[in-house]
Amino acid sequence: VGAAGQARLYDAKVLVVGLGATGGAIAGSLARAGVALTLVDRDHVERHNLQRQSLFCDADVDAGLPKAEAARRHLSAVDPALSIRAEVADLHAGNVLRLARGHDLIIDGTDNFAARYIINDAALTLGIPWVYCAAVGAHGAVMPIAASGKPCLRCLHPDPPPPGSHETCDTSGVLQPAVAVIAGLAAMEAIKILLGQAIESPGLRYVEVWDLGLQIFAVPARPGCAGCDRREMPALAVDATGDAIASLLCGRDAVHVRPAETELDLALLARRLRGAAEIELQNPYILRFVVDGLETTVFADGRAIVKGSDDPARARGHYARWIGL
Ligand SMILES: [Zn+2]
Repeated sequence: VGAAGQARLYDAKVLVVGLGATGGAIAGSLARAGVALTLVDRDHVERHNLQRQSLFCDADVDAGLPKAEAARRHLSAVDPALSIRAEVADLHAGNVLRLARGHDLIIDGTDNFAARYIINDAALTLGIPWVYCAAVGAHGAVMPIAASGKPCLRCLHPDPPPPGSHETCDTSGVLQPAVAVIAGLAAMEAIKILLGQAIESPGLRYVEVWDLGLQIFAVPARPGCAGCDRREMPALAVDATGDAIASLLCGRDAVHVRPAETELDLALLARRLRGAAEIELQNPYILRFVVDGLETTVFADGRAIVKGSDDPARARGHYARWIGL
């Protein structure tokens, strides 16, 4: 890309949402290209992630590190001069504009459509290009979306597909070589956008890695699109009920509980739980305890992952009882 191109990459700031298999691999490519990164992830590193999430290692599991912080440490070790910031947080309609503002590009490293539509509508609002990225089984898709937002993700599908209508990592798993190929394509599109290139053939790049096939599906900007045409941005409508939101995590027998707005004193909570619950792990980022047959990982921003149940109502009740709502 030459000296001028490299200078552009050094000046670029990219937000990576989701530091799982694809997000982690893309973050690795961009960090080695010299790009400044903000890493957002709501989860912690688990041993069963290591089969495909090549940014992490066994010691991250033992240390109980959140993925955003573990990724920051590994990428900073590659080049200590790089600017890399970790945000241990759940991206949602209420914080996406604050998190995304000031970046030149957003990378979708998420594993769910709700988050992708939030990214789509926030990117359109702020005029930031983004790269949609998904991998499952031995195939995946990448779609670069320009700052103009035309076409956007809503031009492809007006609304998120209903749960159960598409393959997930829960139903199909994902092979690491497929992740590597899809993440490589996404990082390439990201670098081209950061270098100021217009997107050639806008649309969805679909790759089948097992039987090697590549197709580009043209996605025309759709007249009347609620995103890039009517600019209604439905995904940014904030849920104002103030209730804790409990949602199933993909492939995990676990529920993510996000309370309205809180800040938890993890040390105080640990003292309160001592005697009643078994404290498994405590560091500045998370507290993990077991009680009532459920393993609960609480983050400093009040969120929790309740493992051992696939019932959001039970997880919310468990949260209310042991952490408090
Ligand atoms: Zn659109």
